[in-house]
Amino acid sequence: MHIETSSEGSEEPPSFSIFKSFKEFRSAGRGFWSDIADSDWNNWHWQLKHRITSVEQLQRLMPTLTPEEYAGATLANHKLALAITPYFFNLIDPADENCPIRWQVIPRVEETHTAAWEMTDPCGEDSHSPVPGLVHRYPDRVLFLVTDRCAAYCRYCTRSRLVSNASGYDFHPHFDQQIEYIRKTPTVRDVLLSGGDPLLFSDEKLDHLLSRLREIPHVEFLRIGTRIPIFLPQRITPQLCAMLRKYHPLFVSIHSNHPRELTTEARDALGRLADAGIPLGNQSVLLRNVNDDVVVMKAHVQKLLMCRVKPYYVYQCDLISGSAHLRTSVKKGLEIMEQLRGHTTGYAVPQYVIDAPGGGGKVPVNPDYVLSRNHERAVIRNYGGKVFEYPEAADGTPLLAKPLEIEEPELV
Ligand code: SF4
Repeated sequence: MHIETSSEGSEEPPSFSIFKSFKEFRSAGRGFWSDIADSDWNNWHWQLKHRITSVEQLQRLMPTLTPEEYAGATLANHKLALAITPYFFNLIDPADENCPIRWQVIPRVEETHTAAWEMTDPCGEDSHSPVPGLVHRYPDRVLFLVTDRCAAYCRYCTRSRLVSNASGYDFHPHFDQQIEYIRKTPTVRDVLLSGGDPLLFSDEKLDHLLSRLREIPHVEFLRIGTRIPIFLPQRITPQLCAMLRKYHPLFVSIHSNHPRELTTEARDALGRLADAGIPLGNQSVLLRNVNDDVVVMKAHVQKLLMCRVKPYYVYQCDLISGSAHLRTSVKKGLEIMEQLRGHTTGYAVPQYVIDAPGGGGKVPVNPDYVLSRNHERAVIRNYGGKVFEYPEAADGTPLLAKPLEIEEPELV
């Protein structure tokens, strides 16, 4: 789908008004919690304590639960727990069965159906784990899992085998062993803290962990992967930001999937992180009924830039057990990327990747812009479909004369 701009004398197409509406920043509001004091509502501990965690609570707050959702919420605590912060719950449209927020956090019975090719550990993390809680797949960086807890649980989570501990994985990181492994492995220059969500730790606990990692001379770069600014923006306090800024270079990767998640509260929380000098990137997962649509995705990436967040990756949904109802096709992902690249600011265009099933790592997936290539030229097309030739020599030296004739192109 292509977003048209209105022209003189013509009305805006409906997709454009939807697009503009997605880009507006709105507060999540108070919803059912209108009588709660501001000091409680804005307190991240209060939000965590009052999460919706049972089917009974969910049905009381949302009598419009479908039979699929009711059954899913009843079974959730045997697979991946149900938890939604009051703040994030307010983003759900109870009147819309296809609400994109609803599909991300309300369990559905389809989660109990496992297709033959689905896996509990689709990225092969456990097989690349030299010590508990540490994944070392790429040469110069490690994934440091700190906790199995999140503020809310995403129904497509690639780590649902361990987060929330509903299926009995019994995750126990060993920080001493994890840090010792990094200390003894000088090729590791980049440490990504993830989980679970590291920003659920107290400031003191996180401060201590970051300071231990910063003491290792060959660790150049620290990253935190978190969905807290989206699920629980109240957690991004000035005190947390002041603590984090001691550990630069420190990057934060957030996880947002839909422009409606970018509320005024989320924007302000991200602004506090950015003001602390923390570069921000976003990782989205391409999800059916949530963001597998170019109008949604374009509004989302543009809105992320307005929140000072660079759209970093769009992931094809991993083959996690029970996720078929949320997965969309690679063809759809490529169509969306085709409508972003060149059609909007380059900074707004994320890299589309597939995490190779079984543990092959991230593989970039792009529309084909190189139509053919031989020793004399590359034939390329631009975002609008126009075809161009770029002359080159096999050894990389630019040709001085225009090639005479295109040989039978060698397909890339
Ligand atoms: S916040 Fe991240 S780790 Fe937690 S459930 Fe969602 S995707 Fe999984």
